[in-house]
Amino acid sequence: MTKLAPVLSAHWDEKDSFTLEGYKRHGGYKASEKALKMDPDAVIQLVKDSGLRGRGGAGFPTGMKWGFIPQGDNKDHYLVVNADESEPGTCKDTPLLMANPHVLIEGCIIACHAIRAKHAFIYIRGEITHVARRVNQAISDAYAAGILGNGIDVVLHVGAGAYICGEETALLDSLEGFRGQPRLRPPFPAIAGLYARPTVVNNVESIASVPAIVLNGAEWYQSMGTEKSKGTTLYSLSGHVANPGQFEAPLGITLREILDLAGGIRPGHKLKFWTPGGSSTPLFTDAHLDVPLDYEGVAAAGSMLGTKALQIFDETTCVVRAVLRWTEFYKHESCGKCTPCREGTWWLVQILRDLEEGKGTEADLAKLLDLCDNIMGRSFCALGDGATSPITSSIKYFRDEYIAHLTTGGCPFDPVASTLFVGAGA
Ligand code: SF4
Repeated sequence: MTKLAPVLSAHWDEKDSFTLEGYKRHGGYKASEKALKMDPDAVIQLVKDSGLRGRGGAGFPTGMKWGFIPQGDNKDHYLVVNADESEPGTCKDTPLLMANPHVLIEGCIIACHAIRAKHAFIYIRGEITHVARRVNQAISDAYAAGILGNGIDVVLHVGAGAYICGEETALLDSLEGFRGQPRLRPPFPAIAGLYARPTVVNNVESIASVPAIVLNGAEWYQSMGTEKSKGTTLYSLSGHVANPGQFEAPLGITLREILDLAGGIRPGHKLKFWTPGGSSTPLFTDAHLDVPLDYEGVAAAGSMLGTKALQIFDETTCVVRAVLRWTEFYKHESCGKCTPCREGTWWLVQILRDLEEGKGTEADLAKLLDLCDNIMGRSFCALGDGATSPITSSIKYFRDEYIAHLTTGGCPFDPVASTLFVGAGA
């Protein structure tokens, strides 16, 4: 069993963990006090040395990203926190913000100091009103206590709700008041981001990880995790498990170990397939139970760690139906800017619908893969690529199940059992 070391979630079980008093009781805002006395470059170096990598999906080193901001350029710099969590299955930033919004505010203060920014914007989904209210209250309390407003301001921006606004440049466009669509890069946000000024865009969990690093040091953080994936992280476990929820563990833990913590697959059933990082990452099967869940381990096994959204499906789930539902999501959320994704996701849904209803032919499988090949790497942003992952991986591991739909003239699964999927992962 991997030894757990909760850091981010250490006090989530305390009933006032989200208040200023609750946060300060465990040393809250001591890290920002310390950081504000440090040279900004020393803070960047500390975060670089810690090995912290972005927790939003790509795993880019956080300190290195901060180091890209040009210094001494006499321009305003901005920090933008991406709280637009919306990948199916991903539910780590929302509980973090509900349980401890002050750790994010403290992380914002430290990051702003490091990149010499005076303003941080937290971009949150409009649908999660209760979370927005909680973060807003925490910001108000921090202002009232004089923690904010002394050279660093934090603004909460509530988005209208679009998956594409989780893409950092679409988020910036949305924040500026435009329709959220990805921007052509270069220039990268570090050079011309929000209002064409140098900008760091970081995920909630990345920024929330910083106060503990400042307080405890880079070596402490380096002591957790694996060789290239340091620290602890939040894994979101959902679907057909006995006890779904968030599990904080050092990077490199395996699904087998997390399932042990979660009481296993629901009684009487067995694992069929799962996503390691949300529905835009290639599926895994029960053959991947011992893959180390860090950036390198998951990539070596043919998928991506992504947002660490572990969606678990047992043998009652029709994989074709599950993939169809995800593909419908990506079609709906395609922003329409580029043809491969806008047209391609529409066609993927039509073919998958036919296959799921047993109306297609085996040639449709080749057509699906051909379509995926024309979307992957040819789309303007990662949404198009991500839409193909569940399709190509499910055909790789479950081709027989696709064929079974054709030979039986419909879904071979018990329709009642199969509907269990609907509430499991999305
Ligand atoms: Fe928009 Fe999809 Fe193209 Fe991304 S890949 S720019 S979401 S149409």
